[in-house]
Amino acid sequence: MDCIEIQPPMIITPRLLPGVKIEDGFISIEKTEKTEGRGKPIWRWFVDIPEGEFTRDDLAGCEGHRGMMESMLAFLEAAAESYPDGENADLFPIPVVEWAQHNSDEICMIRTEIESGPMITDIKVLAEIVGADPTERSLSRRVYKSTECGAWLVLVEGGVRVGSIVEGTDRCADPVTLTYPFLAGEFWEALEDIERQCNTIWKETHGCEKCWPEGTVDQYGNEFKPGEVGAPVNPECPGCGGDGIIL
Ligand SMILES: [Zn+2]
Repeated sequence: MDCIEIQPPMIITPRLLPGVKIEDGFISIEKTEKTEGRGKPIWRWFVDIPEGEFTRDDLAGCEGHRGMMESMLAFLEAAAESYPDGENADLFPIPVVEWAQHNSDEICMIRTEIESGPMITDIKVLAEIVGADPTERSLSRRVYKSTECGAWLVLVEGGVRVGSIVEGTDRCADPVTLTYPFLAGEFWEALEDIERQCNTIWKETHGCEKCWPEGTVDQYGNEFKPGEVGAPVNPECPGCGGDGIIL
């Protein structure tokens, strides 16, 4: 087996393969030497449950073990949902589908966790994931550097809050508070949300002198004289090309 990085919730199963544990069962996957018609690698899956050991090599995909496990779990969910007579019910042997149906909540949870990264339960886990020390100062610095708007982070009771000011204005993005436990994906999503807000505020307030030669009124009813700086950015402006003034 290649040297692969196994991150939670994925584990090395008793088959010594990357996989997950779901209640009383293990699901493992292994890349085969085979490829399907268009050249996608074929993966073999193993479902080891009290009802028996089941395996097939009918999973095709170009992703790594993490992405392929996500697909595998999604197929299991689809099969469980449509059992006994839906169109996906025959994707797996019947005992596997029945087991999946019985454990569908857990399967969905693990799939979400694979998809959105590990669950962040405290500041130490957060620090590890963003590559900082578990202090407000270090985390804040990391967040500041990894966002275009220069976002901030503060520790709050049971979690963290992120936000950002918008340079050259007195406005700021609405902060987002995350309370443990949250998914790594939710943390990155919060920072993206802050970036989006800053971007919107920037576009509303950083028009250059060529943006509105006739003057304009912004969506809040503020009037701007012809050529006044600080009006909304005109996306078609010949002067700044829709980027606004450079600070
Ligand atoms: Zn302009």
